[in-house]
Amino acid sequence: MKEHTIEIRINGIVQGVGFRPFVYRLARNMGIGGWVANSGQGVIIQASGNGHALKQFSKRIKEDAPSVAVITSVEISALRYYPGSKGFSIAESLEGEERSALISPDLATCDDCLAELADPGDRRYGYPFINCTNCGPRFSIVESTPYDRPNTSMKHFPMCPECEAEYHDPANRRFHAQPDACQACGPSLSWHDYRGELIARDHCISAAAKALGNGKVVAIKGLGGFHLAVDAFSEKAVGLLRCRKGRRSKPFAIMVQTIEAARSICHVSTAEAELLSSRQRPIVLLRKKSGCTIAHGVAPGILEIGIMLPYTPVHHLLLSAPQAPKALVMTSGNPGGGVICAGNQEAIERLGGMADYFLMHDRHIVARVDDSVARFAAGRIRIIRRSRGYVPAPVDVKSGFSTILGCGAELKNTFCLFRDGKAFISQHIGDLVSPDSFDFYIEAIEHLEKCLGIEPRVAVCDLHPDYLSTRYAKGLVIPCKSVQHHQAHAAAVIAEHGLEGRVLAVVLDGAGIGPDQTIWGGELLMLDGTELMRMGHLAYMPLPGGDAAAREPWRMGMALLFGILGADCLAESNRRFGPIPIVNRRTIVEMMEKGINSPATSSCGRLFDGICALLGQRYFSEYEGQAAMELEGLARRLLTEPGDPTVFEMDRGRGYPVTLSRKEGGASDTSQIVIGTREMVGGVLRDLGLGMSREEIALKFHIWLVDSLVKVLEWLSSLTGVNRIVLAGGVFQNVILLEGLMSVLATRGFDVYTGEQVPVNDAGVSLGQAFIPGYALQLLNK
Ligand code: ZN
Ligand code: ZN
Ligand code: FE
Repeated sequence: MKEHTIEIRINGIVQGVGFRPFVYRLARNMGIGGWVANSGQGVIIQASGNGHALKQFSKRIKEDAPSVAVITSVEISALRYYPGSKGFSIAESLEGEERSALISPDLATCDDCLAELADPGDRRYGYPFINCTNCGPRFSIVESTPYDRPNTSMKHFPMCPECEAEYHDPANRRFHAQPDACQACGPSLSWHDYRGELIARDHCISAAAKALGNGKVVAIKGLGGFHLAVDAFSEKAVGLLRCRKGRRSKPFAIMVQTIEAARSICHVSTAEAELLSSRQRPIVLLRKKSGCTIAHGVAPGILEIGIMLPYTPVHHLLLSAPQAPKALVMTSGNPGGGVICAGNQEAIERLGGMADYFLMHDRHIVARVDDSVARFAAGRIRIIRRSRGYVPAPVDVKSGFSTILGCGAELKNTFCLFRDGKAFISQHIGDLVSPDSFDFYIEAIEHLEKCLGIEPRVAVCDLHPDYLSTRYAKGLVIPCKSVQHHQAHAAAVIAEHGLEGRVLAVVLDGAGIGPDQTIWGGELLMLDGTELMRMGHLAYMPLPGGDAAAREPWRMGMALLFGILGADCLAESNRRFGPIPIVNRRTIVEMMEKGINSPATSSCGRLFDGICALLGQRYFSEYEGQAAMELEGLARRLLTEPGDPTVFEMDRGRGYPVTLSRKEGGASDTSQIVIGTREMVGGVLRDLGLGMSREEIALKFHIWLVDSLVKVLEWLSSLTGVNRIVLAGGVFQNVILLEGLMSVLATRGFDVYTGEQVPVNDAGVSLGQAFIPGYALQLLNK
């Protein structure tokens, strides 16, 4: 039969996932000649053989590819020449091509490596940095592409002869595994005191396990940064960590060794178990079991706890050490809520006041990546923080616009590089205002641009002029466009689901500036391409003290009282906010009366805060969304356990009265619908007076919100003929609201879309900014 030669170009996540060895073995088995190499865009194969064999070969490459690979395109072309060799080989990486190969996210330790780790007969027995082509560090160690050892922080560790032999042996699982290493040649652990002084290089794991068992705080260097760890069963150790970290109540995540261990603490459904043990290994939010013995201080005031399973060999070794606690608090080593520590010296300086010991290693972390957070809600996995394990895998979006940088919002910031229908959303950067975050933001943008070979031609930022991300965008030499915050929220969902044409969007969040310069946050929008129309919103209320109102829910409680009682609200406030000094309350009322520093807002987040405060649940918030989470927690106490398919049957008619009104004018020149809150607040006060439980009132409030939104959407839909609804904004992390609204809308025949891979909170804003179709073209054509 006649010999042919073809070239196969495969794009996607095909570097660092054992793809070339796979192709090599396949070619050898099938008697195909030629070579395979990494290129700037992915993998290139030149293959010679008869037509039938080549067809089979191309087919099996697609079908039998390693499970961790993600193929986005395969191009096959015929070549005229013959490569000249009967054999098949792995060639050197091809330099000089445009860099657009996708780097794999970091991968959790695989089962084969775990088996070797526990096998006393294996030469990597107990080696804390064991990895192979199916697992190990990736994005966090990459300096540039192609993904080869000299372009990673493993370049500092020359391989020993045994590792070298494995690396070059096509039959070996570590064939071309870039971070491959062993005791003899690879990274190693070290154990240090609180000042960073070296204590030992041997038996570090058992020293750490013992310290943790004794209630000490240990800083542990992981994959994308440092964790602070303590015994999650010890109230005292957790308290000590809270005190040192200066974090009173924001929940800590914990790590346990197995699914069974997670089940002893929380309710874990099959889908949640899969998510927990997925190779991304996110922190999964799970509902605590009653009688769970995890220290109360781990997640005070909420019904859920964030759990993750070990994802590096160090974690596995530590949790299986006999002296170690069976559950560890593993919270980011990010002093002051700022950037996670990555360097050893940096950690000693920044975490020295918090940790009693340091468990460190000498493999440099190139890209800081925090743990990801996900949950299961309304029948799907919902990512809340998309970071380690997911980044930098792209989100596919249907759009051909060229390279754009979405600069993101101010809180929970991410940025997004956009190219050829692929959105590369960055790792979690954090709140840009917190310590060092802005430096990290710039560092991360430069790193991702370099890794992907993307030079953005347009930057897109928020309308808010004072966001640091806005200032960054405006300072760039490329053209810059602003996008309204809630439009970007909705566009992120539109991008993720590939929606085209007009959609109605419900965007509920804390705050974002509107084109009318008021503070939006409870919005009903219509989007059509680049067009934004505000169709309705939650009734405006004053935000006494501006940003201070977000930190002090009692101020929002006062604003709600003021809304129905005017200046007479002081008397009612004695009953509701007795612990707040009367002078402070009087000042707030005066501010609202005179309109001093009390901008109007339609924020849904602040409405939750106000209700939470009225119920006496919380007057001061330590972190964004705390009061809203607690209000949800109160309502959830009355609902069935998770896993039950009938979890949230919204009980219409049991909420507060829905009051809608029409307001003329607005930027869009159409009338807008306003969802009134006065009747609802009046109802809450009446129920409080009747002695109704806080749980019952919290649930009635949720039902009221669902009822109101459904009513408005039905009206808007009949007005516009639009049937597709997008739900976005951080408030939709509220499971009662999300599941309730989605189920009711589904029964009314709406098509409802919300975030799955992309967070609905401000971390998704960068995608929405980069995506809004047409913006980039408008700019480039100017
Ligand atoms: Zn492995
Ligand atoms: Zn070695
Ligand atoms: Fe937002």
